[in-house]
Amino acid sequence: MNPQRQFDHLVIGSGIAGLFYALRAAEQGSVALVTKKGSAESNTNYAQGGIASVISPEDSFELHVRDTLVAGAGLCREEAVRTVVEEGPARIRELIELGLRFTEREVPGQPGRHELDLGREGGHSKRRIVHAKDMTGREIERALVDAAERHPRIAIFENHIAVDLITTQKLGVSGPNRCVGAYVLSKVAGEVTAFSAPTVVLATGGCGKVYLYTTNPDIATGDGVAMAYRAGAAVANLEFMQFHPTCLYHP
Ligand SMILES: Cc1cc2nc3c(=O)[nH]c(=O)nc-3n(C[C@H](O)[C@H](O)[C@H](O)COP(=O)(O)OP(=O)(O)OC[C@H]3O[C@@H](n4cnc5c(N)ncnc54)[C@H](O)[C@@H]3O)c2cc1C
Repeated sequence: MNPQRQFDHLVIGSGIAGLFYALRAAEQGSVALVTKKGSAESNTNYAQGGIASVISPEDSFELHVRDTLVAGAGLCREEAVRTVVEEGPARIRELIELGLRFTEREVPGQPGRHELDLGREGGHSKRRIVHAKDMTGREIERALVDAAERHPRIAIFENHIAVDLITTQKLGVSGPNRCVGAYVLSKVAGEVTAFSAPTVVLATGGCGKVYLYTTNPDIATGDGVAMAYRAGAAVANLEFMQFHPTCLYHP
């Protein structure tokens, strides 16, 4: 095993969750961003339609919450829906500040003035889909990877696979069990290195790739959920799996 690497934050995964967290955390300390293929390879990179958010003056948080609860068919936790809906517009603004270029349109009747072009998708009663043509995810990855690469406090480790979490219990340290890092395999060097950090964030995405027919890329194998479970974390809602209708096939 290689010598240990020490950071303030260890982020595993370079989709929207990992990159966004890394950029925030880097305001306070050093960040190691570990990702198992190239930085852009993620579900995020393949998302097309866009992000639902209350932007139009004709829309409201109440309408977005209601639409989401109806689509959720009684399975949503309203408190969580409300948080996601109400924080949406601020996150969209942050993404724009980070350099993301969403598609705009000319404001009707006001030549030369532009606003976000809002799409309308299934289940939404208002136009609220912010998008970058039909390649929203690719634009998100481009902007966030670019910002992370330029950040002096973020070190990106591509082709590095986190294989297991390091916990105080595994190290034989007494007291409550805490995660203090991860063992990471470098695919190029063929060596495992211990990355240690007081904060470890698993942003490894879902596990759609365990199914034969999926629109998810090869990276989506649920590694983070498995690592967390082995380390003693509670896991939940694993029965929820999105299958995009475009890959439904029946002979
Ligand atoms: C075809 C498609 C279309 C979609 N369209 C939309 C849409 O229009 N709107 C919408 O809101 N959502 C859409 N989604 C869903 C959306 O893309 C995901 O919910 C979101 O991108 C998940 O982001 P994430 O950061 O959690 O995970 P991901 O983007 O999947 O990132 C996971 C990261 O973890 C890394 N990783 C995994 N395991 C390890 C490991 N062991 N060690 C190191 N790194 C690891 C991966 O390489 C990757 O970088 C779509 C998804 C797909 C596949």
